[in-house]
Amino acid sequence: MKVERETKVWTMREGDGPAAEKAIAEAAGLLRQGGTVAFPTETVYGLGADAANTAAVERVFAAKGRPSDNPLIVHIADRSQLEGIVLPYGEIARKLMERFWPGPLTLVLPARPGAVSPRVTAGLDTVAVRMPAHPIALRLIAAAGCPVAAPSANRSGRPSPTRAEHVRGDLAGRIDGLVDGGAADVGLESTVVEIDDGRIRVLRPGGVTPEALRQAAGCEVELDESLRAPLDPQFGEAGAASGAPRSPGMKYAHYAPRGEMVLVAGEPEAVRRYIEAQEAAARLAGCRTGVLTYDERAAGFRADAVLTLGSEARLEAAAHRLYDALREFDRLGVERIWAEACAPCGIGLALMNRLAKAAGNRLVRV
Ligand code: AMP
Ligand code: MG
Repeated sequence: MKVERETKVWTMREGDGPAAEKAIAEAAGLLRQGGTVAFPTETVYGLGADAANTAAVERVFAAKGRPSDNPLIVHIADRSQLEGIVLPYGEIARKLMERFWPGPLTLVLPARPGAVSPRVTAGLDTVAVRMPAHPIALRLIAAAGCPVAAPSANRSGRPSPTRAEHVRGDLAGRIDGLVDGGAADVGLESTVVEIDDGRIRVLRPGGVTPEALRQAAGCEVELDESLRAPLDPQFGEAGAASGAPRSPGMKYAHYAPRGEMVLVAGEPEAVRRYIEAQEAAARLAGCRTGVLTYDERAAGFRADAVLTLGSEARLEAAAHRLYDALREFDRLGVERIWAEACAPCGIGLALMNRLAKAAGNRLVRV
């Protein structure tokens, strides 16, 4: 499929007046006509297409180079759009929607047959849905008048875009439009859950933590088997491969910087010594090296690029900076990267999940 095209860019910030209205109307018109439009959400930028239009959805897969067995999340602006694409759902799902929508939580629900393109669901009988908490996203979807299938607006395998310039770098000339609405807030993709037998199962950790899910729904929350490896004290390269994920996308090596990354866990001083030795050897061999750490320990590392995610005490902010940091290593031409692990609690669970993926599951415990 031919993917080269001219990408129309609209720039808007919150509080924009009539010019923004016109831009939203134009972008929504493109979506209705089967075009592909990237837009900001509170998690990362999404690449949208009319979820019911198979040709439009195929353009999303083509632009991203996304494997066709990886289903898309459908974005809605209100509950009436939801009822059109899913079959009746239970009390737990309802509680989660009430508590977390609009927001960074995706629910995998029984799909209403024929309501969205089979390319969106990758042929599954479920559909993943969320209502984004971003004024531009909500206005665009409402104006388009159709549920919008939107994966992250990056080339497949690259870090998710948290700013419009990332989208431009990956997809300019491959998509029809880009709404530049400034930086995304959360900086990590949504939490994806399914509900099974009165329990919530987290398929992909994200901005909504398991603790928050448990509180809102008052039921058990478990992690999909494939997510448990980085939490296992024995984890290592073999451990990371255990369990086939129930969320098809989780099996892909996502979020990768161009350099080869290793995630290192353990007591901080042991981690520092391990990284120091590895880094020195790599530099001697002529590689450009990088370390991804936290403010508290940045001074203890030596490498061509020492980047920090901020304070270890503020993992929300660290999550927000992750993809920018990974792209920064690329910009600096770094070839080998060592990243410090964090505690896999709260948002740290999502951060560790993305770090492990960025590392292609190269995990070392020292
Ligand atoms: P992305 O849009 O790239 O952020 O990825 C969407 C994530 O949602 C991927 O991990 C998909 O595998 C997952 N997903 C989408 N639809 C479903 C579904 N019906 N069942 C399980 N996981 C899904
Ligand atoms: Mg993605």
